[in-house]
Amino acid sequence: MTLALKTETPPPAPAKPRQVTQSHRFDAELVAVTKRYGPGAPAVDNISLRIPRGSYCCLLGPSGCGKSTTLRMLAGHEEVSDGAILIHDQEITHAPPVARGTSMMFQDYALFPHLSALDNVAFSLKVQGVSRAERRAKAKEYLELVQMDHLAERLPSQMSGGQQQRVALARSLITRPKVLLLDEPLSALDPFLRIRMRAELKRIQKELGISFIHVTHSQDEALALADLVVVMNNAVIMQAGAAREVYETPSNAFVARFLGGHNVVQRAGGGEASVRADQCVIGARPGLRSLPGTVSMIEYQGTAVRVSVTGTDDEELTALMPTSAFFNDALELGQSVMLSWDPADEHPLA
Ligand code: ADP
Ligand code: MG
Repeated sequence: MTLALKTETPPPAPAKPRQVTQSHRFDAELVAVTKRYGPGAPAVDNISLRIPRGSYCCLLGPSGCGKSTTLRMLAGHEEVSDGAILIHDQEITHAPPVARGTSMMFQDYALFPHLSALDNVAFSLKVQGVSRAERRAKAKEYLELVQMDHLAERLPSQMSGGQQQRVALARSLITRPKVLLLDEPLSALDPFLRIRMRAELKRIQKELGISFIHVTHSQDEALALADLVVVMNNAVIMQAGAAREVYETPSNAFVARFLGGHNVVQRAGGGEASVRADQCVIGARPGLRSLPGTVSMIEYQGTAVRVSVTGTDDEELTALMPTSAFFNDALELGQSVMLSWDPADEHPLA
């Protein structure tokens, strides 16, 4: 979009001093970005995205859809085939990684094994020639931010995976990036730690006020964390919006199915619609739309029970029932039932 605008407006004013970027509107922007690794289909196909200041942005999608490629192009670790990338409104499409104001936290943490937590965090300042006292003081501050100051002298081999990750995070942040890039940062942690760490990431992002761009294939993670959820599939963006917006009003069948908790149904007037599983019931009621089928799966989930019903043409629809409602009149696998919903709850899909 910005590229199109540029051709219609007068030539840009001469370059201004750096402070001007204080008034930038977007922390990061992709303008019609394409990446081709070879002659086949592109890995990223003409995507445009604007990330407002101070956003937690999640790139969400199945394996192979182009999330990491997008992140690596933002970092400058991968050349862009076509299009432009801006950070703080400044074009950096072909700038080297260190000149972009981005910092990448790697999945395997990549800590130096022979350096303490503190020295790992201070390392980039050492490279910049910052004095020992100053860099140790700064590194302590960042270890405090990630709540690792009490383990400052430990070596990576003396830390748990979660602790190493906190150190890696501090090490990425000490360079004071404009945008922090994280590729599946929580995937190596156990489920309990993953949920704790994602709350930490969110807290730190809000505290620093910079944008985080976080790649994940987990719907829960993206919905829990993101101000801006960007759902990708097959090298393109399927939908971008606030977590609640993409969940409650998916714009196409892919997003509805991928986010989960939705059924995709044929509308009475033609076309497809989604209806949330928690708005579906088992049994026919006046005024509701119903589809007949047999119970093909029952899954107890604590607060709710998921009941899947397979219809005559093999499509599977799911009702998420409150536990009490389910056990009032327990269903059995193979039982013939009607799955019903209020047509007013249907949300049309493109
Ligand atoms: P994701 O992170 O969403 O799983 P990737 O961005 O890693 O997806 O990959 C997108 C597509 O690009 C995939 O088809 C993948 O095989 C291909 N790809 C990724 N990296 C390379 C590379 N270095 N060379 C060739 N193809 C690649
Ligand atoms: Mg990836």
